[in-house]
Amino acid sequence: MFTRTYSSVITAFCLCVLLSGALSGCQSKGSDTTETVDSTAYADGTKTAVTADTTKEAEATVIDPASIPASKIADAATILARPQVPILCYHQIRDWRPSDSKTSKDYIIPVAAFKEQMQMLADSGYHTILPDQLYAYLTTGAPLPPKPVMLTFDDGDLDQYEVAAPELEKHGFKGAFFIMTVAIGRHGKQPYMDKAQIKDLADRGHAIGAHTWDHHNVKKYQGDDWKIQIEEPNKKLESIVGKPIKYFAYPFGLWNKQALPELQKRGYLLAFTLADKRDDQMPLYTVRRIIAGGQWKSKTMYRNMIQSFDDK
Ligand SMILES: [Zn+2]
Repeated sequence: MFTRTYSSVITAFCLCVLLSGALSGCQSKGSDTTETVDSTAYADGTKTAVTADTTKEAEATVIDPASIPASKIADAATILARPQVPILCYHQIRDWRPSDSKTSKDYIIPVAAFKEQMQMLADSGYHTILPDQLYAYLTTGAPLPPKPVMLTFDDGDLDQYEVAAPELEKHGFKGAFFIMTVAIGRHGKQPYMDKAQIKDLADRGHAIGAHTWDHHNVKKYQGDDWKIQIEEPNKKLESIVGKPIKYFAYPFGLWNKQALPELQKRGYLLAFTLADKRDDQMPLYTVRRIIAGGQWKSKTMYRNMIQSFDDK
């Protein structure tokens, strides 16, 4: 069963048409997907998160979240005061088809454009971090590599495995993949990763997170929904990768205050939204991301990334 939801309130929406084999994606306000001329791309001097002196040093400081005692976790105000790490959200990585609408092209990034964005990040000195590193940074102030960025991929589309992951690895990058479990192994016009591919990504050092069972809007959960959408997918993913699943991405980027403690008590350490403002009480459960629009040139992506995460 699949529910399609549109929220006009925060102008965030996501289209996921699973059984009909169409596309999937998320969009939110603040994501200007119109291509524009950018005269200031690659400009440096932007405000970035606390970083270690070298990548090697930072890699050596990766902290297992399980080793961080509750007494060491900073309060909400401290977490909110730390400079934000830019986090990009991708969906499908494939060339556009004639049937793709203008709107859908915002979250279907052509292969060459994706490669260009990754090359730009590498050339600009960015280092990808994984959710464990972000958690240690936000909760304890643990150092991050220079120019940290997180690359996230929603839904579990097969092209993320076949196209994105190899491209990341060319640059020494790692990604976080949020899997919608109902679609695991699904074939068709828009195929999804199977269990072996998800396990392979985890074994290659990428992070696997949860994205509900069938993309049902978290704001509407009642009754068994928490079990079906959150608990069972978590167990399924843990059984596939053989590691705890600690991170969650909201379908459509949609959340409400009631959902945050529900995720916390089910063992999640961080939950990822889209461009909304973070919750002032539970910022770990409202970590911001932006969609790297499929129609953005890499310079536009760079500029939008800097602007969205540059704390004023
Ligand atoms: Zn999604």
